[in-house]
Amino acid sequence: MKVPLLDLKAQYQTIKPEIDRVMAELFEQQQFILGARVEECESALARYCGVAYGCGVSSGTDALLAALMSEGIGPGDEVLTTPYTFFATAGSIVRLGARPVFADIDPETYNWNTLQLESRITPKTKALMPVHLYGQTADMDPVLELAERFKISVIEDAAQAIGAEDEGRRAGSMGLYGCLSFFPSKNLGCFGDGGMVVSHDESIIKKIKVLRNHGSEKKYYYKTVGGNFRLDALQAAVLIVKLKYLDAWTRQRQSNAAFYDQFFKQSGLADSGRVIPPRKKAGRHVYNQYVIRVQRRDDLMAYLAERGVGTEVYYPRPLHLQECFAFLGYREGDFPESEKASRETLALPIYPELSRTDQEYVCSVLDDFFKTR
Ligand SMILES: *Cc1c(COP(=O)(O)O)cnc(C)c1O
Repeated sequence: MKVPLLDLKAQYQTIKPEIDRVMAELFEQQQFILGARVEECESALARYCGVAYGCGVSSGTDALLAALMSEGIGPGDEVLTTPYTFFATAGSIVRLGARPVFADIDPETYNWNTLQLESRITPKTKALMPVHLYGQTADMDPVLELAERFKISVIEDAAQAIGAEDEGRRAGSMGLYGCLSFFPSKNLGCFGDGGMVVSHDESIIKKIKVLRNHGSEKKYYYKTVGGNFRLDALQAAVLIVKLKYLDAWTRQRQSNAAFYDQFFKQSGLADSGRVIPPRKKAGRHVYNQYVIRVQRRDDLMAYLAERGVGTEVYYPRPLHLQECFAFLGYREGDFPESEKASRETLALPIYPELSRTDQEYVCSVLDDFFKTR
């Protein structure tokens, strides 16, 4: 039996006729860059995130980059973020010549430990960049309070958390900027790279729209230097179709998560502490990943792989210990919870199309591992 970590082919099969129709339409029109489809996608996604405006961009990474550029962040500036995230979060800061300043995570949610933020804010801090990891929002009240008090803007990295909620507020709607990714493995994935910046502030989205088109408002005249951060019409068309199904897919992810939770409880693996299932806070968790914590993580991963079960480690090395960030001067031991998480976490298959039979198989392999070893 084979259970992959993610099965995008299965999802495509469920929406193939619709997707093929909109693709054929665009092939006939040969209108690929921005245009009506992109605008339709921007308003639909802004609405979904609970804000008024959106600007489609070329990736989640470029959403973060454009947001930082729009804030004028550059050399001499600092941006506070987490070391336990995908590379792009800090990569985008460093690309602009600014400095990522890290604060450690909470060991239960893997999101920011917000108690560690205030002491790291300096006069150079220009933005707070919380990440909503694995599909669950970071604790936003303390972040928003600090932003207000110190007059710094909040750029949410909501790449893994479209539709997640913190006290009824959607991921991406709480800061000045919400950055989404449509990378294929995200909950709303397109057929390539894509992303979006959403905001409740119209002037912010106007700025992002200029930045995504080389900094030009009037064709061939440039007031600022931007980039080519445009979203393709083809990707927008895919997203419009897929958005209709996103809530159903999310419910399926939640139901799969509940099934694993139940298994870890009934098997005694959770009570004995051999497996620590993900902790769900109040609010809407959209389970981009279902991540457990185990002591012998690498052994378990290999055992599952030998038996056809796909898993992944998000992330095996926290960002403060990455080679390319050595110049920041961080050391092993600086963020112990992130370091520990990078040794102990493992993502199990959770995608919406995962069948009960598949999931029962994953659980039986997990059971065998802990019985025999
Ligand atoms: C995926 C991801 C990104 C980058 O998105 P891309 O669309 O792949 O560029 C940024 N931050 C986080 C937390 C992500 O998971």
